[in-house]
Amino acid sequence: ALRITDECINCDVCEPECPNQAITLGQEIYEIDPDKCTECVGHFDEPQCVQLCPVSCIPVDPQHVESRETLWQKFQRLQAAT
Ligand code: SF4
Ligand code: SF4
Repeated sequence: ALRITDECINCDVCEPECPNQAITLGQEIYEIDPDKCTECVGHFDEPQCVQLCPVSCIPVDPQHVESRETLWQKFQRLQAAT
């Protein structure tokens, strides 16, 4: 999963573009739910939020480093739940 750092300027651009609805506005800045972020695996070739973020504040979450296979399995779980 990816993570939004405190460099986020709350520009609102990423939230509507996330295919997994993993991004929400938290207490101060936008946040990513690691249980929902597949790094866009299953939907797009590149993470949409990273492509769009004007301040490049969305790195991989060091606490949620996942393989492509793991991300794919998460995608399939999320699809099954909808
Ligand atoms: Fe959503 Fe994709 Fe960004 Fe993860 S990488 S938060 S799934 S847009
Ligand atoms: Fe924050 Fe970047 Fe999302 Fe804008 S696109 S709300 S700066 S994380």
